[in-house]
Amino acid sequence: MTTKQFDVLVIGGGPGGYIAAIRAAQLGFNVACVDEWKNEKGGPAPGGTCTNVGCIPSKALLQSSEHFDHANHHFAEHGISADNVKMDVAKMLARKDMVVKQNNDGILYLFKKNKVTFFHGRGSFVGAKDGLYELKAGEETVLAKHVILATGSNARQLPGAAFDEEMILSNDGALRIGAVPKKLGVIGSGVIGLEMGSVWRRLGADVTVLEGLPTFLGAVDEGVAKEAAKLFKKQGLKIELGVKIGEVKASKKSVSVSYTDAKGAEQKAEFDKLIISIGRVANTIGLNAEAVGLKLDERGAIEVDGDCKTNLANVWAVGDVVRGPMLAHKAEEEGVAVAERIAGQHGHVNFNTIPWVIYTSPEIAWVGRTEQQLKADGVAYKAGQFPFMANGRARALGDTNGFVKFLADATTDEILGVHIIGPFASELISEAVVAMEFKASAEDIARICHAHPSLSEATKEAALAVDKRTLNF
Ligand code: FAD
Repeated sequence: MTTKQFDVLVIGGGPGGYIAAIRAAQLGFNVACVDEWKNEKGGPAPGGTCTNVGCIPSKALLQSSEHFDHANHHFAEHGISADNVKMDVAKMLARKDMVVKQNNDGILYLFKKNKVTFFHGRGSFVGAKDGLYELKAGEETVLAKHVILATGSNARQLPGAAFDEEMILSNDGALRIGAVPKKLGVIGSGVIGLEMGSVWRRLGADVTVLEGLPTFLGAVDEGVAKEAAKLFKKQGLKIELGVKIGEVKASKKSVSVSYTDAKGAEQKAEFDKLIISIGRVANTIGLNAEAVGLKLDERGAIEVDGDCKTNLANVWAVGDVVRGPMLAHKAEEEGVAVAERIAGQHGHVNFNTIPWVIYTSPEIAWVGRTEQQLKADGVAYKAGQFPFMANGRARALGDTNGFVKFLADATTDEILGVHIIGPFASELISEAVVAMEFKASAEDIARICHAHPSLSEATKEAALAVDKRTLNF
């Protein structure tokens, strides 16, 4: 049997890998992608963490729990009576699984459409000779000129509290809780902890979030973080900052967490389930990196330069397995850029305009620098803010919490950062990303016609606020 040979072999079929494979195929290369994720029947489930246990299922559950919350708390003000609203958790989870499967199937279809060969199984290095890499792709041995590593990340373990996915849950188990827990503990108040905490809080769980850092959402603009803390508290999310976690003990019925609180007092909390979301670690398990001398950095991520080149000729790495923000769209952009560089083009990722989103209610989204970063960098800036309370569409939606904030250079008026907390912040942020990519000034946005009534008018008004000329506030 002749060994199959490819121009490009991609290991990992998450957003970094599958997008890199498709772009490389579009550029005329003979491409294969190998991914080992299995669905419950043992079949292929490409899409990685994002599709299977990350972005997509978490948003599906956030949507279901938001509907439930609206039916309970907001329908009445619209004159809709919905007494005795019940949540069928099994049905909610089945819908989430169906959404995941649609995405898995969509990727398999895209591979076919773009003539990308798909291998289901593990990809690993065997060796290198004659300018080609020899690799295992599932059961097969293949040769490839270029290799793109997109093996993603795994949830970070808390020492002494191994995930059993029954009582002590990573993101995986957190997306499969079969009944609303009475008391849910969450260790870590990052994006994942807040999103998962919100889902189960809306469904009625008593949620306590324990965070080691003394500040809430330290990476977020201070004004936004303060507003978020206020609103989350109102929703009943209990957030304790500056704690030091001690012993975590799970029985069949509950999990106890001992911790020292911010005042130094010893505390013990008892939960029905505990989610641990304290970050993620790059995944290089099973790559057999040693066979070819692939270099990792001190944190175990694959070491790459600004162009995603590793220490090995023609071996590239993208997404969560390399430095930079662990975001699906960052992984995708790197995947496209690498495919284009392999084709001799000038693929580029602008790290300054990568948007961030937290899909809580209200949503939080931002791009560029925060006010505290600008102060620390000694940059003279102007700030403008507009509340959704003064936006007609937000009032019609009944969703008036939050604001849009613009930060612009004091001299040139160039937009340096945009921070949104409020309805559909995840969608609204795109306008700011486009503006910053084109180096727009706040005045540029202020002079663009925005549809009325729309939430995007709050963006225009915040840009006007930079020059203290809001029209509706
Ligand atoms: P992954 O998606 O992790 O994919 C890696 C793939 O490689 C996996 O399928 C894995 O099985 C496979 N693999 C690994 N090693 C091998 C091997 N040796 N052989 C074969 N296959 C292998 N990001 C956002 O931008 N927006 C969000 O809303 C968002 N929500 C999230 C919610 C949660 C709960 C979590 C956990 C993450 C979320 N993320 C979100 C982060 C996002 O999921 C990751 O940044 C993204 O998945 C990274 O993509 P990737 O391609 O680098 O890796």
